Amino acid sequence: MDLYEYQGKQLFARFGIPVSEGRLATTKEEARAAAEELGGQVVVKAQVLTGGRGKAGGIKLAGSPDEAEAQAAEILGMDIRGHTVRRVWVEQASDIAKEYYLSVTFDRGEKKPLFMFTTQGGVDIEEVAESSPEALARLHVDPLVGFQPYQARWLSFTAGVSDPAEQKQVISLVGRLYEAFVGCDAMLCEVNPLIVTAEGKVKALDSKFTVDDNAFFRHPDIAEMRDLEADDPQERLAREKGVTYVKLEGDIGILGNGAGLVMSTLDVIAQAGGSAANFCDLGGGGDAEGVVDALQVITSDPQVRGILFNIFGGITRCDEVARGILEALSRMSIELPIVVRLDGTNAEAGRAMLLEAAPPNLYVEDTMLSAAERVVELTRVQ
Ligand code: GDP
Ligand code: MN
Repeated sequence: MDLYEYQGKQLFARFGIPVSEGRLATTKEEARAAAEELGGQVVVKAQVLTGGRGKAGGIKLAGSPDEAEAQAAEILGMDIRGHTVRRVWVEQASDIAKEYYLSVTFDRGEKKPLFMFTTQGGVDIEEVAESSPEALARLHVDPLVGFQPYQARWLSFTAGVSDPAEQKQVISLVGRLYEAFVGCDAMLCEVNPLIVTAEGKVKALDSKFTVDDNAFFRHPDIAEMRDLEADDPQERLAREKGVTYVKLEGDIGILGNGAGLVMSTLDVIAQAGGSAANFCDLGGGGDAEGVVDALQVITSDPQVRGILFNIFGGITRCDEVARGILEALSRMSIELPIVVRLDGTNAEAGRAMLLEAAPPNLYVEDTMLSAAERVVELTRVQ
């Protein structure tokens, strides 16, 4: 899960990483009050789960509460690459002397956390990596050995931080960022820019923080930071119901058991000339409850015009799935065509049940390809 800048900064502060004092505001009046409380010059920052807010006009300096209110009025409701701004973060403005870049993320190839640090911050890091790779200090941390203080000194030295007072602060901040990364089960902690103020103080001016959802059981406080309104409505419903669901662009809803089978189904749909509206994995279960939940999620997407069940029974029994489908159809009114392919354990029995019940919009097919062709055809005819 990606966190908003202000949430990432809250976590930074918890680990002793210097950040500016600020307040969250959802209205222009709140932004004014925040500026009054903070005093002096403030910066009004759009909170959206995407980068490049500065370039998009989502970050504005304000010299007075009046100005903060006006800037907030302009930024709230703004669209930044498909994200509507519903909150702004008002913080004490910093006097920037230098902009650096610091991040720690996972290098999946090396199976180790990777630090990247450069004094050429403020711009796109990809650009630095491309045009002057020597300016980018990269360092892996062995997770078993843990982070070592000399590694922070190496990063600071290699990136060319020369002022001793600055070095000291950078080194301390690198160590704390690693603690935040591990302590929050993060997948990414990025500070761009990491600034040095005119007074020589090093601090995190921005934060990009991604936490591994699988570790939420250890961090209920972080799990609560999720902004439900920012999520896609189907994905939210799916999460509530415990269904694995990914929204795609097409018009055919897919239900399969097992991620591998679902992915193959996407391919077969494409082969048949169609395109999938989603990726939905029933997992091991195929009981009525699971099928109802998945169908509810899928049919709540107005783009869906046909549904394909592709089930391979192993531990899952096809007759159970068939019962689930019939149960779901008796509880919900679905008029979309539903094509079902059952194979594996108890497939015969499952097919027989479906053929006997014979709901008018249900079609039983023997193979994955014929099922895909059928659903593509039915979706087109409508
Ligand atoms: P991003 O564009 O989404 O990455 O947002 P950032 O938080 O990184 O801010 C973008 C830019 O706005 C920074 O690189 C700064 O140049 C500028 N900015 C942000 N906060 C301040 C501040 O407190 N003072 C000044 N002078 N500029 C700021
Ligand atoms: Mn930034």
